[in-house]
Amino acid sequence: MLYWDYAAAAPPYEEVVQTLEQVMRTHFANPSSLHRGGETANGLIKRAREVCAAALGVLPQEIIFTSGATESNNMAVKGAALQLQGRGRHLVTTELEHPSVYESCLQLQKLGWEITWIAPDSKGVVEPSKVAAAVRPDTVLVSVMHVNNEIGTVQPLREIGEQVKAVNSRTLFHVDGVQGYGKLEVDLKGWQADLYSLSAHKLRGPRGTGILYIREGVTLFPLLTGGSQEQQHRAGTENVPGIVASAKAVRMSGEQRHVFVNRIAPLKKRLEDTIAAIPGLVLNSQPDGAPHIVHFSYPGMKGEVLARKLEELGMAVSTRSACSSRLAEPSRVLLSMGRDTAAALGGIRISLGDSHTEKDVMELGQALHAAVQALKIAEGGMK
Ligand code: PMP
Repeated sequence: MLYWDYAAAAPPYEEVVQTLEQVMRTHFANPSSLHRGGETANGLIKRAREVCAAALGVLPQEIIFTSGATESNNMAVKGAALQLQGRGRHLVTTELEHPSVYESCLQLQKLGWEITWIAPDSKGVVEPSKVAAAVRPDTVLVSVMHVNNEIGTVQPLREIGEQVKAVNSRTLFHVDGVQGYGKLEVDLKGWQADLYSLSAHKLRGPRGTGILYIREGVTLFPLLTGGSQEQQHRAGTENVPGIVASAKAVRMSGEQRHVFVNRIAPLKKRLEDTIAAIPGLVLNSQPDGAPHIVHFSYPGMKGEVLARKLEELGMAVSTRSACSSRLAEPSRVLLSMGRDTAAALGGIRISLGDSHTEKDVMELGQALHAAVQALKIAEGGMK
């Protein structure tokens, strides 16, 4: 079976697995304990924070370890809204966001906050001036993702940050960076980002661990209380093995970015060319999108039917993003780009990893041809 679902979960680096095991066995003490074991565990977290800060070009005290990007995003959106409600109760986000941002905003809306949802263009890109035009004196947060997890489009964060801050310099700018880090350049200062979320398992790190960058000077209302861990931002005994292994994955995947730039990006292009040449398939990802995500629709055919057929042919792909793939509803992201319901129901996401080769891509291309052919024949037979 060839695995094409790296954007949902990337296989961990061998070093990550070894680190997890070693830290779990050896450094099990509670980092808050005052004895030597606790001190050592605390030192490991300190070192991990320094590694992540260096990878992102920020200060160690600006890095918070979480249970994943779902938590980081919830913490950024709701933590900012709750903390700054005296200043205003308006947020701006996009129709493309991951459910952990999208539904955090929906929750706030139910509680009385006002949310402005910015629609992307037909390519899945948000116009910076549209975002900035929505910003008001009472806008406390703008949240825009770096790379869309479903179709791989890249948002113009530098321009968005610049224009938003020009309208209201006090508005916080949050970036969900989960699908961009390790594949594209990250420039938190250049984007003027105040908050930035990462998930370790997309970077070949452990599952259930994440990072939130909180710019020095920004205070969020803590969602988890009951301890002074993570500089009072997040209570709870730290996941020391997960934190140390996450830092390793952040460092290693950051250093490996050139693999995606030089080797995987041309493979992605090749795959997109193959898909574009198969009658009936409609490409939704863009040539200038992230180097690891290819997305297409087979309008009239449910994505899961094609995905099952591809699995029979030895290819593990995804229908849109993992978090929503068990839903039978049309993709919100594709609808927001103006695609019709048939296309939005028939989406397939293929996500590449650093281990994929030209031969893999060729085999996938053949499987795609065969799957579409088989489904067309089956469909014809049913009529
Ligand atoms: N944001 C994006 C863009 C994602 O792709 C994901 C993972 N599907 C998340 C947030 C949530 O990350 P986690 O799985 O670590 O909770």
